[in-house]
Amino acid sequence: MIYFVGAGPGDPQLITVKGKRLLEKADVVVYAGSLVNRELLSWCREDAVIYNSAAMHLEEIIDILKEAQRYGRMAVRLHTGDPSLYGAVREQMDALDKLGIAYEVVPGVSSFLAAAASLKKEYTLPGVSQTVILTRMEGRTPVPEREEIRSLARHQATMAIFLSAGQIGKLCALLCQEYPTDTPAAVVYKASWKDEKIIRGTLENLASLAEEAGIRKTALILVGKFLGDDYELSCLYDKHFSHEYRRADGGGSIG
Ligand code: SAH
Repeated sequence: MIYFVGAGPGDPQLITVKGKRLLEKADVVVYAGSLVNRELLSWCREDAVIYNSAAMHLEEIIDILKEAQRYGRMAVRLHTGDPSLYGAVREQMDALDKLGIAYEVVPGVSSFLAAAASLKKEYTLPGVSQTVILTRMEGRTPVPEREEIRSLARHQATMAIFLSAGQIGKLCALLCQEYPTDTPAAVVYKASWKDEKIIRGTLENLASLAEEAGIRKTALILVGKFLGDDYELSCLYDKHFSHEYRRADGGGSIG
């Protein structure tokens, strides 16, 4: 069996219990060497065969998984964060489908979730934003024109921008055309790693702050008033608001 496993954002404790158990059992592990924390590999069996996919192309990765399957070995393909975001996992799953090889996917904690934890913020504040846009700037991978940064920014929703720290100047200039320039923004470099760094500012000064700190990769850019302090209290915990699990009359939990 082949398992695509989300390794989490960096801190080895942030892989799921299921993911860790699979790593401990695996005969073969192919990990995304550019971002997966190698400390996770210390859970692998001594005789596990471990490959770093950083320098491989798709066919080489598939060949390893195919061979593992042929010899009845269990293989883990370890992706950073959650495999469903910028993981190039779909093409691997489709290749296995074509070969008739079964696989499962085990989700992981994405870096944008680790970033919120590091910032100690909530992306969806009542009266501020109830929407999170996950996106990226165009790099070597193109982004469809209808998703260009300016049109997404028009919503002034919470934004988490991946793969774009190297273009932060251009990014902030585009965002400033739609959000007020004093909108709070942050860069979280290596969220949950020991050398994590947080830069806080506004759309106006974030790019220069990040450049001064020398951050060019492995960072997320977070934008929106969720980083500020004005918001409305939630209905969920409002004592005058009843819902399935609580009565408004102070009767406590009915769940
Ligand atoms: N699947 C991953 C994203 C892979 S794309 C996930 O769910 O997080 C790689 C990009 O993710 C990086 O360029 C960076 O923008 C972001 N990233 C990954 N790990 C990160 C971390 N620990 N801290 C901040 N950003 C991270």
